[in-house]
Amino acid sequence: MRYRSTGRKAALTSLRGAVLRGLAPDGGLYLPVEIARRSPEELEEFRRLPFTEVCFRVVRPFATPDVPEEVLWQIVAEAINFPVKLVSLSPGLHILELFHGPTLAFKDFGARFMARLMGYFVRGETRPLTVLVATSGDTGSAVAHGFLGVPGIRVVILYPSKRISEAQEKQFTTLGENITALEVAGSFDDCQRLVKQAFSDMELNKRTFLTSANSINIGRLLPQMFYHLAAYRQLPVASVPLVVSVPSGNFGNLTAGLFAKRIGLPVAMYVASTNANDVVPEYLRSGEFRPRPATQTFSNAMDVGNPNNFPRLLDLCRGRIEYVKREIWGHAASDDETLEEMKSLHERFGYIADPHTAVGVLGWEAYKREHSDPAQGLVLATAHPAKFADVVERAIGTAPQLPDRLAAYLKLEKLSRPMSSDYDDFKQFLLAQ
Ligand SMILES: *Cc1c(COP(=O)(O)O)cnc(C)c1O
Repeated sequence: MRYRSTGRKAALTSLRGAVLRGLAPDGGLYLPVEIARRSPEELEEFRRLPFTEVCFRVVRPFATPDVPEEVLWQIVAEAINFPVKLVSLSPGLHILELFHGPTLAFKDFGARFMARLMGYFVRGETRPLTVLVATSGDTGSAVAHGFLGVPGIRVVILYPSKRISEAQEKQFTTLGENITALEVAGSFDDCQRLVKQAFSDMELNKRTFLTSANSINIGRLLPQMFYHLAAYRQLPVASVPLVVSVPSGNFGNLTAGLFAKRIGLPVAMYVASTNANDVVPEYLRSGEFRPRPATQTFSNAMDVGNPNNFPRLLDLCRGRIEYVKREIWGHAASDDETLEEMKSLHERFGYIADPHTAVGVLGWEAYKREHSDPAQGLVLATAHPAKFADVVERAIGTAPQLPDRLAAYLKLEKLSRPMSSDYDDFKQFLLAQ
């Protein structure tokens, strides 16, 4: 497969080029030049084959010829080593739990797969690849766990001192091995500034081999097709049209859903479910895409004011709003509605949802109210409720129990190195490695 840029000015490249670069040289995002539709027979087979086999078959055309089949098989098997659970709350409402990976959020799919893919692409390099990540909490842990123990790669995570919860901090500062956490005396913006400055520092880039692991990397999107397929495997035969509600921030998850639909997954409509950061629902209503600074909400992993995957989404819909509207319907929920929904899901079904998942359920319910045709709803559950224990407690009165594997990190010793917010100190640290 070759990859093209949504900017349309950069040369085509291989998967290796697209993954190691991240962003195309023209500032666009990489997309596969074609997404082949699978035959109905093959889709039917996807319901019966073991899940690893299905993931492998789905991703194979995107990775050929860059990654030999036996290597790809190993990457898939190692990366996707946790279940995707479908919970049916009623005949018309299903929840797809994507949070059973090591860091209890759906980002484990993308991070674990991309880490192994990058590890393969840098084999034989004499210099180790350094992955730089600035985090305000959750991305850091998914990326750290994804890359843990991958040969030839080291990860440097920058996070703002004293501004993240202990549970978040312990998840990525206790790992050791090839993961270094820098506790920066400053804000998240300082962390991002240090990383940006490092990427634009010519001298540093001559002497070290740097890359980023942010959410625009195509290597993180491809494996996100897998769980859309997982839902298809577990749902009863879809005689009733399927509407998939995706709690969205940067819109990587929804973009991967469109990939899955292009392959042939029968989805009648995607719902772009957001919190108060409603740039995309607003675009669907008014036709104008107006990015703006993010506002803080309970579903903070979706506090995004300029969704970075939007150019991909638009490109996949031929660049025209009429086509976008045929496939995506938008809904934004407030924090009050989110709390109410968490409470109501608990009362009606005994189901404890995290705030992101609740935003997804609200999107589906709004869709259902405005469309009378028969449909069944599938809501992607993006985080384990224990990751947002304070919001859950506020909604339902009790805090969910921390799963053992998360609780275990709290007992470990923090290994982070203190770092000033001065660029020269950071640069000296990178050069001394
Ligand atoms: C990252 C994240 C999202 C948003 O996913 P996008 O692909 O950025 O739209 C939703 N929920 C949770 C819990 C997340 O961590």
